[in-house]
Amino acid sequence: VKDEGRNNYQFFDPTLDVDNYKKFSIANDLRKAIKNDEFSIHYQPKVNIQNNQIIGAEALIRWNHPVWGNVPPIEFITIAEETWFINELGHWVFESVCQQLKLWEKERVPQIPIAINFSPIQFLQQNLVENLITVINKYDIDPQLIEVEVTETALLNNEQQVHSIIEEMRELGIKVALDDFGTGYSSLVYLKKFKIDALKVDQYFLKNITIEKNSQQILDAVVKLAHSLNMTVVVEGVETNEQLELIYQYKDLIVQGYLFSKPIPAIELVDLLRNGQCF
Ligand code: C2E
Ligand code: CA
Ligand code: CA
Ligand code: CA
Repeated sequence: VKDEGRNNYQFFDPTLDVDNYKKFSIANDLRKAIKNDEFSIHYQPKVNIQNNQIIGAEALIRWNHPVWGNVPPIEFITIAEETWFINELGHWVFESVCQQLKLWEKERVPQIPIAINFSPIQFLQQNLVENLITVINKYDIDPQLIEVEVTETALLNNEQQVHSIIEEMRELGIKVALDDFGTGYSSLVYLKKFKIDALKVDQYFLKNITIEKNSQQILDAVVKLAHSLNMTVVVEGVETNEQLELIYQYKDLIVQGYLFSKPIPAIELVDLLRNGQCF
């Protein structure tokens, strides 16, 4: 009886109602959104702090919903994962980036690798690599210009299959990066099991680095470990000069954060690339 009361209360709670309606609407509208051209991709530069050069960029999806406006990816990606629509969406992102890379090649924009986020769900597709190859061939893209960002969860799911997918990607020349490093429980185990090209240190470490000696020491250990395994290290979420100063000591460190640039539309990235050294 108590539970029923609570449910009734929830049912009439106007804020919850809006939340539920929004979630329902998002799930429903995701499919139409591709056809209606409501998605776009922003690019966030990755910068080598030794010379301030842009050495790559991460593709981040944006959704301009006709009613809700800009819906943050964390909101709709989760819903897309629940409904498995993420496979179609992930394919759209991959194809859009390849199309963009081809266009930039034709327009003689300085070429940099573009990193694409892959949801753990996508790694459950038997024909994932086949589909990627089809798109790569369609646009005649150099696979070296593509980097795939995976999270530890992807590696956990179906270890054997994920292992061979990652191997196949790397054989094609695609780079593989482990995203959100340091937020899971057993990241070190995966460094041994999977051949991975780059580690992306989660923003969490940067948030604390100026106030906690601990975070500095962990970052220090991670950078040394990764470099000893010949992996590139990308530090995410650098927002202040204070944070940047604490990581200047490292050679070959790549930084991604608001201090240099937020994720920007393709056209703005082109301006930055054409201007060469820009930060
Ligand atoms: P992520 O892969 O960890 O991407 C980095 C997120 O951190 C981005 O948020 C970026 O805008 C934000 N960020 C970058 N620098 C800073 C900084 O200095 N400070 C702060 N506070 N944030 C910073 P965004 O674009 O909202 O994306 C959120 C998450 O959504 C991504 O986290 C990723 O997990 C997911 N996502 C985005 N695009 C895609 C996609 O195309 N496919 C999939 N599967 N997931 C995506
Ligand atoms: Ca990422
Ligand atoms: Ca990340
Ligand atoms: Ca994340």
